Amino acid sequence: MNAEIIAVGSELLLGQIANTNAKFLSKELASIGINVYFHTVVGDNRNRLKEAVEVAKQRSQVIILTGGLGPTKDDLTKETIAEIVQKPLILDERSFQSIQTFFEKMNRPMTDNNKKQAYVLADSEVLPNDTGMAPGMVFTKKDVTYMLLPGPPSEMEPMFQKYGKRSLLKRLNDLQTIESRVLRFFGIGEAALEKEIEDLIDHQMNPTIAPLAADGEVTLRLTAKHADPTRRKEMLDRVEKRILLRVGSYFYGYGETTVMQEMANVLNKKKKKIAVAESLTGGLFQEELTSIPGASEWFQGGIVSYTNDVKTDVLGVQKRTINTFGAVSEQCAVEMAENVRTMMKADIGISFTGVAGPSPSEGKNPGTVYIGISIKGEVPKAYEYHLFGDRQAVRIRAVKTGAWKILK
Ligand code: ATP
Ligand code: MG
Repeated sequence: MNAEIIAVGSELLLGQIANTNAKFLSKELASIGINVYFHTVVGDNRNRLKEAVEVAKQRSQVIILTGGLGPTKDDLTKETIAEIVQKPLILDERSFQSIQTFFEKMNRPMTDNNKKQAYVLADSEVLPNDTGMAPGMVFTKKDVTYMLLPGPPSEMEPMFQKYGKRSLLKRLNDLQTIESRVLRFFGIGEAALEKEIEDLIDHQMNPTIAPLAADGEVTLRLTAKHADPTRRKEMLDRVEKRILLRVGSYFYGYGETTVMQEMANVLNKKKKKIAVAESLTGGLFQEELTSIPGASEWFQGGIVSYTNDVKTDVLGVQKRTINTFGAVSEQCAVEMAENVRTMMKADIGISFTGVAGPSPSEGKNPGTVYIGISIKGEVPKAYEYHLFGDRQAVRIRAVKTGAWKILK
């Protein structure tokens, strides 16, 4: 959160007075953790003040102006800001009354130009002036908070201490309201995904983009800071869109979901039933599938065909297939998937065969996996993978990869 201070007053430029307001405010802001990056001094000149504020609002979240709130013609801070932020000046009754009381106490008639001091920017929070006449004001527009304070330190200092500081802290707190969204990816490594969106990560500010890898998946946590929930959502939507434009083909869901859950959602929506034949994974796919509530809607049944005898005698894989290509083969996976689908009258059949390790099998290295997929009315296919990790990791990754394959 960075702030800047603009002191308005030609007497400051002429060297008649020192800018003690900036010194005071800088110290105060530092004590509440707000960084002050710029001090500007500008004379009582509308165009030059406008210039200074236009620059400030591009680079600071908080702009504090002091001076130029008084009754005379050269006091033009409010009027200039009104023009920049396109807000009208409206009479603040309470300030007007306190100005009248001020004159009564001093036993002096109130001149007309003093009424000018009771005008404040529309929709702003008015900061009472307990030691003078011109009220201060605060408002936030387009993520920039403007605070207008009177010039005399005897007015500005107590006003900031008593009202300004609190108002600022509250506004900054509101601005900090954060919201996160987690995007989940499968089938791409953390490094590869980061490379695809390197420039977005390098230039992240708000929202921030934080990658995380776990269990063979990558997640991106997007976090937006903004007081307005609608704006927060828009900010998250915008980065999400930019990210998915590049790596959308690996994206599968938001938040706490799993690949299996998303696959189940798709089957459920399309009203398709799945049957499973597992060798390598020993029932792990079916275990995960049935741990999702309502599984009977999309899961027909399955066979754990661990030995070759069960593959041939129960599942009907041809002996010739196993003798020629081995049980860990594309051909075997295809037959397993096709047979389990037809046996169980399902729409989709999926099969898993492979080498979990630690030692090779049929001359194939651990991590070699075939996943067969048979879809009613289509030619069955098998996909070859070389998965990384120990025995358990290979089995878990095979299950996720299978679910992913059906999801896509
Ligand atoms: P007033 O109602 O007194 O006119 P104002 O808000 O219009 O207040 P200015 O007219 O800009 O403020 O300044 C009034 C006086 O406040 C200056 O003459 C000076 O004594 C003091 N002052 C203004 N700005 C500063 C500053 N940055 N640092 C220290 N003193 C200041
Ligand atoms: Mg003045």
